[in-house]
Amino acid sequence: MFNLTYEFKLKPTQSQIAMFEEWLETHRRVYNHALAERKDWYKSRSCQVNACSLHSCYIIPADAPRPTFASQCKSLTAARKENEYLKRVNAQSLQQTLRRLEKAFVSMWEQNHGFPRFKKPGRMRSFSFPQLGVNPLTNGFVKLPVIGAVSMRQSRSIPDGGVIKQARVVKRVSGWYVMLTVQWDVNPPQPIPHGEAVGIDVGLTSFVATSNGLLVKRPRFFVDALRKLKLLQQRVSRKRIGSNNWHKAQRKVASLHEYLANCRKDWHRKLSHQICNNAGMVFVEDLNLVGLSRGMHRLHCLDAGFGQFFNILEQTCFKRDVYFQKVDSRKTSQICPSCGVQTGKKELSERTHICSNCGYTTDRDVAAAQVVLVRGLAAVGHTVKMLAEGKFVGIPVKQESPPL
Ligand SMILES: [Zn+2]
Repeated sequence: MFNLTYEFKLKPTQSQIAMFEEWLETHRRVYNHALAERKDWYKSRSCQVNACSLHSCYIIPADAPRPTFASQCKSLTAARKENEYLKRVNAQSLQQTLRRLEKAFVSMWEQNHGFPRFKKPGRMRSFSFPQLGVNPLTNGFVKLPVIGAVSMRQSRSIPDGGVIKQARVVKRVSGWYVMLTVQWDVNPPQPIPHGEAVGIDVGLTSFVATSNGLLVKRPRFFVDALRKLKLLQQRVSRKRIGSNNWHKAQRKVASLHEYLANCRKDWHRKLSHQICNNAGMVFVEDLNLVGLSRGMHRLHCLDAGFGQFFNILEQTCFKRDVYFQKVDSRKTSQICPSCGVQTGKKELSERTHICSNCGYTTDRDVAAAQVVLVRGLAAVGHTVKMLAEGKFVGIPVKQESPPL
């Protein structure tokens, strides 16, 4: 099985837009209700050891099971029989919203994300359909369950043989979009390690440093736009809240944010292709991105968008038959790539790596990228050999053929 997601801009009519808006609101209410149910359950289990709450007390029986995705789907089915506004919305689509909440909890438990929050009006921006009818895409229209055919701009064609499995309708400030997940019944081969290997170190001084000496400066999308953003936000704050002019000013802030996100994504895609141009293997560090986004340089780390870059790089590598792997990121800037000796911490101002053991000298970030490369080559079972001028080659260890 092989999935790709295609995104197209929708051209809904006024009545369809009203319907989309109503659906988003219903989804938001379902999400908030389900979250409240879970939150109440948690609160009823936690109790201070030294005090009893005088303000309020959660009356949930001690043996009540924890609300799960399955139990909430069941209560949703029951609620749909009584509520008119729930009946108007596709049931499967509402279940997807419950699944989304479940996912938010799982990523809190497993990935150290924050506790899921209630969504304010307008905060719910998409809903999805896990199942579509036969041939949902016909000459410029996409057929969605219950809503019906919606006109769209098909900016690119979908290759033959794919089946459209899912759709997600997304609201952005520039309009409505649909994301179609297309599935092909083929198993494309996973790239195998081959060709030239490239190690990549990411950082804030140079966004990317590769082991063969390419240094790319970091673009500051958000940081550069701060002044403009401040101006636009100031204009919002001077309007009467909820008025037409206030809405207009808000839209300007939102479109600036969307523009910046688009710029960043475009730049990440282009850089990924540039890296893949003459590489057969790509190795990157496995960074703790959640930790970075809470550190001192969080604004800059989030502006750089390392997580998105790694995802896009991985997809690009897959598309272009380049082997991609993440390696351990610890102490990449402290180890000499040439002799492997730990040289101690460098100050941030120290821009070159000079090894006190073997005298190997190169740029600090390039040295880190070369350490990543050496680790990556070792991880795919190659023996690493260093040629002159900091060029590293991996020699595959010949596997002994199994005895017949
Ligand atoms: Zn050395």
